[in-house]
Amino acid sequence: MRLLVTGGAGYVGSHMVKALLRAGHSVLTLDDFSTGRRPELPGEILVRGSIADAPLLDAIFGEAPFDAVLHFAARSIVSESTRDPAAYWASNVGGTLVLLEAMRRRGVLRLVFSSSAAVYGDCGARPIPEDALRRPVNAYGKTKLAVEHALEDWETAYGVRSVRLRYFNAAGADEEGELCERHQPETHLIPLALQAAAGERGPLPLYGEDYPTQDGTCVRDYVHVSDLCDAHLLALARLQSGQSGAAYNLGNSRGYSVREVLHGVESVTGMRVPVRKGGRRPGDPAVLVADSARARRQLGWRPRHEALGAMIESAWRAMAGHVTPRASAVLSPH
Ligand code: UDP
Repeated sequence: MRLLVTGGAGYVGSHMVKALLRAGHSVLTLDDFSTGRRPELPGEILVRGSIADAPLLDAIFGEAPFDAVLHFAARSIVSESTRDPAAYWASNVGGTLVLLEAMRRRGVLRLVFSSSAAVYGDCGARPIPEDALRRPVNAYGKTKLAVEHALEDWETAYGVRSVRLRYFNAAGADEEGELCERHQPETHLIPLALQAAAGERGPLPLYGEDYPTQDGTCVRDYVHVSDLCDAHLLALARLQSGQSGAAYNLGNSRGYSVREVLHGVESVTGMRVPVRKGGRRPGDPAVLVADSARARRQLGWRPRHEALGAMIESAWRAMAGHVTPRASAVLSPH
């Protein structure tokens, strides 16, 4: 297939580009490099630009036909979305509408959308099935939900079929360790904890120890980035075979508290993670654990890296090759 990947320089997007190229597809990546930063992959065509740039999209779609779009480009930091919702609505919703209209104009009628568990908010279901109440508690989740609603309308009215993949907490890195998780600024628990363990940053703030969970810290469902890529390939196959669009949760149906993740980081690295009190972070739901039965049943999705320890290990190995000299030193004997 010939595919457009928006946000292909980001964490999940770059893993996807690698997986698509490896599967023999032809890929054009569109990214504005506002947060993504990684070297071009062999065989990849990279265009620097915005999904909100309609003339650019017309030029891209006009050059040659595309079989589908994989849409990763978005702002994705929950705390930032709470502070500056306007930027999130403009990029995530405004930008996506420009993309959808360009697709419609050019007859590109298949889309795989990176949605999020944030659409559920504190919905109360544990684990969360796809038909649970979607009541986001932060602007990031609201923008992802708004796009999901738009996609439902675009499918009914214009025949743009879409698979909405609701990621729970993406973690880990590719087997070769080429593309580690490296946000700028970093806000995610596992990379921050690894950096804190490696002495590359100060004590990790524990954002809330008074949640109604087993140890008072938030519980999340971590899913390996390579397993997310597998789900995208299956979603493409679904659309390619002419089936309708759908929404799927992608998680391992097992929740880990922040403290459990920190223990995991300590046992993988053999180093202590220094922590400090942080207080609750606005917009954080207490528990997000996926019921992913639908993805397993309808897409045939089989996550291959379910163990949290293996996810942390792959993140640690990838980090060693990129950002933490201390991690490299520790890992070099292996
Ligand atoms: N977290 C934390 N300290 C940090 C970063 C994250 O306690 O420095 C917590 C955060 O409050 C949440 C969990 O770790 O409960 C996962 O956060 P992350 O930002 O990785 O993903 P999110 O669930 O927000 O998408």
